[in-house]
Amino acid sequence: MRLTFHGARGSFPVAGPNFTRFGGQTTCLELRLAGLAPLVIDGGSGARELGRRLLAEGAGETLLLMTHLHWDHTMGLPFFGPLYAPGWRVRLGGWPRALAGLAGMFGRVEGLGRFPVEFGQLAARIVQDPALAAPRFKLGPLEVRTTPLNHPQGAIGLRFEAHGRALAFISDNELDPAAAASQRLPRFCQGVDVLVHDAQFEPDEMPARKGWGHSDWRSAVELARAAGVGRLILTHHDPDRVDDQVEAIVEKARRAAGPRLLVQAAHVGLTVEI
Ligand SMILES: [Zn+2]
Repeated sequence: MRLTFHGARGSFPVAGPNFTRFGGQTTCLELRLAGLAPLVIDGGSGARELGRRLLAEGAGETLLLMTHLHWDHTMGLPFFGPLYAPGWRVRLGGWPRALAGLAGMFGRVEGLGRFPVEFGQLAARIVQDPALAAPRFKLGPLEVRTTPLNHPQGAIGLRFEAHGRALAFISDNELDPAAAASQRLPRFCQGVDVLVHDAQFEPDEMPARKGWGHSDWRSAVELARAAGVGRLILTHHDPDRVDDQVEAIVEKARRAAGPRLLVQAAHVGLTVEI
C-alpha cells in the first residue's frame, strides 16, 4: 500500500509563510495498491490538487471513502475534477450518507445554491455502493474494516489490510477513556504498521475543548502504544498551529513514545509505503 497525504490540516485551510512545512490543505488522502482503482479518503481542500493528478493519469475510476461529512472533509469535492469527467466512475463508500452529503454541496434551488453547478449536471457516473458502508468489506486485494468514532454527529475510523500489512486511519476522533468508541480502538488498531491519528490539540488544551471531537498528541501516543503500532502519524493539525508548533508537538510525542514507536506529523506530499 502507498499512502499519500494531500491535506493534513483540521477544521479550515490555512496559507502563508508559517504553514509551509505541514501545508494548509484540509484532510484528503490517497491510497494506492496494485489491482485497485485509486482510493481517495475524504474530500477536504486537498482533493482539488489530487483530482487534477488523477485526471492527468486518466484512470477513469475513483473510489471515494468518506469518514463523515463535516465541511473540512468535503469542501474540496466541488473542485474534484473526476466528478466532471464524462465516462468517469466514482464509487462512494464509508459514511452511509456520503452520496446525499455530496449532492447537498451543489446548487439545486434558485437562490439557495451553495455552488453554481447542480449535482445532476456532473458528468461522472457517481454511485454509492452500499457494500462499501458495511463494517467489513473487500476491495479487490484490500480488506477494509470500519469502527464508529467519538465525534459530534459521528464519524468512522478505517482499517486497511493487504498482503500482510495494515494501516489504520482515525480522524476525527476524541479519545476519551469513558467513551465506548474509544474503548474499542486498541483492538481495532491492534498491530497495524501505521496508525494515522487526530492530534489537533495539546494535552493542556483538552479541558476547554472537551466534546469537540478531537484528540491531543499524548492520547494518540497512548493508543499507539496500547495497540502495538509501529509508526504513528499525527494529523488534523489545528489551523492556529504554525509549523514550529507542530514540530514541537512531534518532539514531545517522540519523547513520550519511546524508542519502539516511530512518530511523525503528516504534511502535504508525505508518502508512506506500508
Ligand atoms: Zn469532523
